[in-house]
Formats: sequence, structure tokens, C-alpha cells
Amino acid sequence: MYALTEKLRSLKPYDPIQGNYKIRLDANESCFEPDEIVKSAIMDRVSKIAFNRYPDPFAAEACAAFADYYGVKSEYVTAGNGSDELISIIVSSFLEKGDTVLTFSPDFSMYNFYSRLYELNVADMPKDGDMRIDIEKTIEYCAQNNIKAVIFSNPCNPTSVGITRGEVIRLIGALDCLVIVDEAYMDFWNQSVLDMAEQFDNLIVLKTFSKACGFAAVRLGFAVACERITNALRAAKSPYNTDSLSQAIGTAVFSQKDYLRTRVSALIESRDMLYTQISGFQQEYPELIGKIFPTRTNFVYFASGRAGEIYEKLLGKSIAVRYFGDSLRITCGTPAENAELISALRTILSDIRNNGKG
Ligand SMILES: *Cc1c(COP(=O)(O)O)cnc(C)c1O
Repeated sequence: MYALTEKLRSLKPYDPIQGNYKIRLDANESCFEPDEIVKSAIMDRVSKIAFNRYPDPFAAEACAAFADYYGVKSEYVTAGNGSDELISIIVSSFLEKGDTVLTFSPDFSMYNFYSRLYELNVADMPKDGDMRIDIEKTIEYCAQNNIKAVIFSNPCNPTSVGITRGEVIRLIGALDCLVIVDEAYMDFWNQSVLDMAEQFDNLIVLKTFSKACGFAAVRLGFAVACERITNALRAAKSPYNTDSLSQAIGTAVFSQKDYLRTRVSALIESRDMLYTQISGFQQEYPELIGKIFPTRTNFVYFASGRAGEIYEKLLGKSIAVRYFGDSLRITCGTPAENAELISALRTILSDIRNNGKG
């Protein structure tokens, strides 16, 4: 019988929460659908696609619109089929079999996933109780352990915690190895190092269309890096990694700058509202809700000894959030969704407390 490789035998397909839940607060998507103006700008672009032709391999228009929105130069931008694909390209081509990648835990699981798929060693540095990355310790660790790449999200998914631009710059400057900073959620904070990509020869900053922009359905991500790294990335990717539909949609949406900024403000407002409400519950139910981490993202992350029960009871009310064993991550929703979540949580916390006594 044909034998799968050992690394494949232990893999399972990525399995997001399945099922039809009324409220989805589990995947950090934007709660907003594009408005009619944005939709018609998209349709306009899409109607001009030459469907019988291959897409632009360099997604020039989408990269230019992205670059203009974020204030970077489009020569330094590479588009990917979601930032997931860019992580895969980077890990598979900038590193060699047996090299060691440094990740931190908890952090986005795909860094570890792709590194192992490409037979790299993964050194994992646990974060401290405040879920922060210790910069000086990291620098020392990299020097002593021949680390070839460091990868982390900032602000972090799932912890929602961020480290400052100054700290990130200190880290990049002190290391010779490749540093990949995944800024998937930096739209919700102001400590980006996107503008530094041009100056450092060892930095790649990742961005996605899926979160703040509200287009998870469209697979589009971006890597911003200096010219040498950008050339290498473009050479290593598959030729037509982003299709004409994604490119057209990206071009249309990134041109709607005011729309995007308004949506980001609304998401930040929603996130703050959710944070305040959950903090209130923590005061009321300190035995059920533990530490709430300061959020720089569009979700709230908190510790809970009863996370599993809360998660299951929320699913029972058709509300999906993300469960991590000893903590929960809840994406902010529309005002109506937040209100329903808060009301459900209020009931659930009170039930758990009363049953505990009973
Ligand atoms: C959601 C997420 C991504 C995935 O982005 P795609 O562009 O949808 O592939 C990347 N990094 C982090 C940290 C994320 O949370």
C-alpha cells in the first residue's frame, strides 16, 4: 500500500467551528458587510476582467491600491492568496530544512504549522503572564540558538496584546536573522512598522484583507519588505497566486479609503464596548472570569477556569466564540450582536454561579 509520509499522517485538515450559528464571533472577521457604494465599485471592476486571460502575476493594481491606503511604496509590496499563503511561501523558501524558527506561545497557529510542514525546527518561547514578548530575552535566545527566523503577530492573535513599535524596531535591529511581523490586526492600533520595511534588510511585514478590511471571503494578503526580499518573494511564489477576481476586489476596496477608515473606527468602538462589558462581568464574577488582556485588536481575550462551560453554553444559544482550554477569545460584533452576546453571558455566568452553590 502506498504510504503517506510521517508528517502527513499526523496532519488533520483545518477545522474551523462548523455549523450554523446565529452569531459568529469566533474567527475575528469584520462584522460589517460592504455597503452598496463599495459593492458597486467592486462590480464595476469585476465586469472589466478578461476572464479568458491569466491574472497579473504581480497584482500590480491591487498592490498599488494597498500601498496607497497604507502609505508605503508599491515596489515593496507582494500580494498573496491570503497572508496564510505568504507565511507558507516565506517559511518554505527563506529557510532550509533543519533550520530553526522561533515562535512564541500563544500565537497564531499557522507559523508552527507551516514550519513543521517544511521540516524546520521550531523553538517556542512561552510568553509571560501578561502575554508580552520579552525583547531582550528574545535577542539573547536568537544569538545563542542559531535562530534563522523569528515570526510573531503584533498585536497578537489570540491574546490581543501588542508590543510597541519601538520594541519591534529594537528587536529587528538587534537580529541578523529574518524577522516576520504579522500585522493582521495593526489597523486597530497605531504601532505599525510597515514604514520600516524599506530600511531593514531582514524584515517582512504581513497584512491581510480578511480582518479590518472585512473581506475574509476574498483571499488576499500582502507582504511588505525591502527590494531584495520582495524580489525573492516574487520569485518564490507560484506565478498566478492571486486571481483576477481577488485583485479587482482588492483594487476597488483599497481605493475606498474613507469607507475603510470609518469601518475601522466602528470596529474599535465595538471592541471597546465589548471590553468594558466583559470587565464589568469580571468585577461581578471574579471566580468565573480571570484576567482580561488589554486589547489592541478587534477581539477580547480573557482567562477563565470555566472557559469550556461558558463556550458550550454560548454555542447552545447559537453564539460561536473561540475556546482555548483556559481562555476565551470573542470577536467584537455589531451593536446588536454584542448586546445579544452580553445578555447571553449574563445569564450563563449567573447560572454557573448558582449551580455551583446548589
Ligand atoms: C486571520 C489571520 C491571518 C490570516 O489572514 P488571511 O489573509 O485570511 O490568510 C494571518 N495572521 C493572523 C495573525 C491572523 O489572525
